[in-house]
Amino acid sequence: MTEPHQDEVLEWLEEDEHVAETDIQAWPILVVDDDEAVHAATRLALHGITIQHRKLELTHASSAAEARALLETQRHFAVILLDVVMESGQAGLELVGDIRKQYGMTECRIILRTGQPGYAPEIAVFNEYDINDYRTKSELTRTRLITAITSALRSYDQIRTIAENRRGLELIVNAVADLMEKHALTQFAEGVLTQMTSLLKLPLDGIVCAQRGSPLNNEDDRLYIVGAAGRLAHLITSPVEALHEPQIEDAICRCMTQQAHLFEAETTTLFLRGGNQEAAVYLHTGSALSEQDRQLVEVFAANISACFGNVKQVEMLNYVAYHDALTRLANRSCFILWLDIASRENRPGEVVCLVDLDHFADVNDGLGHDVGNALLVAVADRLEEHLGSSCRLARAGADIFGLLGPEALLNPANLERIFSQPFAVGEHHLPVSITSGYCRMLEGGESGFTLLKRANIALNRAKKHYHENHEYFMADMEDNTRWRLEVIRHLRHDFQLKKLQVWYQPQIDLGSNRIVGMEALLRWPGESGFIQPPSVFIPLAEYSGLIVEIGEWVLAEAADAWRSLQDLNGAPQRVAVNVSMPQFRNRLLIDRIADILGSHRLPPTALELEITESIAMDEPKVVISALGALKELGVRISIDDFGTGFSSLGQLRALPINCLKIDQSFVREIADGRGGMYAETIVALAAKLGLTTIAEGVETTEQAGFLRGLGCDEAQGYLYAKPMPLPAFREWLQQRNNPAR
Ligand code: C2E
Ligand code: CA
Ligand code: CA
Repeated sequence: MTEPHQDEVLEWLEEDEHVAETDIQAWPILVVDDDEAVHAATRLALHGITIQHRKLELTHASSAAEARALLETQRHFAVILLDVVMESGQAGLELVGDIRKQYGMTECRIILRTGQPGYAPEIAVFNEYDINDYRTKSELTRTRLITAITSALRSYDQIRTIAENRRGLELIVNAVADLMEKHALTQFAEGVLTQMTSLLKLPLDGIVCAQRGSPLNNEDDRLYIVGAAGRLAHLITSPVEALHEPQIEDAICRCMTQQAHLFEAETTTLFLRGGNQEAAVYLHTGSALSEQDRQLVEVFAANISACFGNVKQVEMLNYVAYHDALTRLANRSCFILWLDIASRENRPGEVVCLVDLDHFADVNDGLGHDVGNALLVAVADRLEEHLGSSCRLARAGADIFGLLGPEALLNPANLERIFSQPFAVGEHHLPVSITSGYCRMLEGGESGFTLLKRANIALNRAKKHYHENHEYFMADMEDNTRWRLEVIRHLRHDFQLKKLQVWYQPQIDLGSNRIVGMEALLRWPGESGFIQPPSVFIPLAEYSGLIVEIGEWVLAEAADAWRSLQDLNGAPQRVAVNVSMPQFRNRLLIDRIADILGSHRLPPTALELEITESIAMDEPKVVISALGALKELGVRISIDDFGTGFSSLGQLRALPINCLKIDQSFVREIADGRGGMYAETIVALAAKLGLTTIAEGVETTEQAGFLRGLGCDEAQGYLYAKPMPLPAFREWLQQRNNPAR
């Protein structure tokens, strides 16, 4: 071990003298020697000394055994001055071995002292036990002792710093792994605060994580607190102004404006950016951060920024999946989840209620969709005001609200009262009457879906009453199956008579404006030209299993249609066909598809299958293997109505799919001037997952322009064309590609 140059050490010492002695912890030093005189001399020599602003604190042990007893409980020593010969000639060296190995004290520095020069240990021992210095006692004058201790402390300090950094990096690595698991923003923010403070060894108090905009309103540009700890914890979700701490507010604002970390005298404010989301993390450090801490914090910020982007996106998707975009109430999927939970917890005295607004269609048709929408929002607000604190509220259907709560509140009389006043909507005062269906939670254990279905049966009964506008579910109501069976019989009959048709709607590339595909949509013409809406008969065809046969027929028709168009200039490259869950449950699906492709000469790469999100998520194992086999054939898969079901990023990743089809409801929002936040999120998500996007229900050029701006690849909707029978579609294609000829 080379001795540092004396001057250098003294310089290091001198620096200290300019600084007032602080009450920072003293350096803990252990002196082990069996000669009481050595202890006394050491005490005397080191009395009043400070090294690097810190005093020395001596602990004494008069034998190796005593030292061991001490080390059982205290291992914080920076330097140990150790006599070689004590109980035995080797006692000191054996103790060194234990200090390093048994007690695991790898950072503390050891200075060996001996009265007898002949006892010098082998060089190998120095290396093995990482001994700093070896002196004979006579050699150690006061100055030499101080010099030796000073250099040992300096080396201890360096070792500590390196170890700290390594610990810091480990913390960061663990923090990132941990934060990746956090899917909720508040959880994530809390995680960031915990990790940051443990990194900097600060108390978990008075720190704040803020992001721009509230998740509920994307026009709101204020800064919101998404995480806080200690005395500020209660402010989570409040705007930053609510802190009433101008200094914190100021730091957060500057950080967001400058888009950079702020390392200041007593505070540190980190800037996080993930995707297009930004946030600031403020913490009171009490003093400026050291260069090492600063570097750690920067690495930390860079690593968690990416997580933050993911969390934001997942959060938004979860929000989209479980909320109604118009009223901001929970949606039907969320309502079913609540019912599931309530039923599992068996809460007698609670009731499920569906409230249907009478004649809502008249408002929509008579006063326009905007007024209709505003009325729905007003109703949601009214329900929230009267019932929000004790009931669960959801929008369970277009003009149907779902309520769950105590029967004392959710009963016909109380709901009548709530709706007794008209609703102010723009310049209108609209009186609203309601019809309601109730289902009491009696036994518990029914699925949420069953409870909803029962309340719905009651609601439908109530609609047929002349006098009363409400009904409670009774066990004997469940078989309204007669009507269903009748429709199914009729559908099967018409299918056999080849009365069903397949219509086609074009899909357009938003970049080139060219036709890239077409979607096959089933039509059931009824008597006197009336066309049954697929939304009514397809669920019944699914319920009865008839959809398996019909679906194969649609695929064959679509294949023929695609082939028949290929002689045209600019013919669609692909044809999209909808597939339902019962088709997926059929083991023969893949073989049947392959057969049809072969016999109708449709190349697999020209086929796209549209499956809904719920199919993809319901039975992931069945679906993933089927999709994998299809993809192997070369068939494209897209997720229909994306954003209306519930998918986590993880689940989506696991699916072999090519495309996300943005649901019409999100496209419609673009026109409402509420921005296309959801469409934007879905496009960003698709980009992240390497998927293409197609928007459906595009009706205006503004929507198309907005979607193009987002980077959405394709579009489909009335703006281009409505679904048409094949001859009309062929004509439309010819017109479009060879205009005015
Ligand atoms: P989908 O797959 O989401 O089909 C899109 C629906 O949006 C179609 O309704 C289409 O006519 C309509 N649409 C297209 N562009 C616009 C637009 O710009 N504005 C508006 N307001 N609507 C637009 P459709 O034909 O009534 O089909 C309803 C649903 O029935 C389909 O929804 C699909 O889930 C199902 N379906 C249709 N054909 C089949 C089929 O052959 N097999 C299966 N399994 N399901 C089918
Ligand atoms: Ca579709
Ligand atoms: Ca769709």
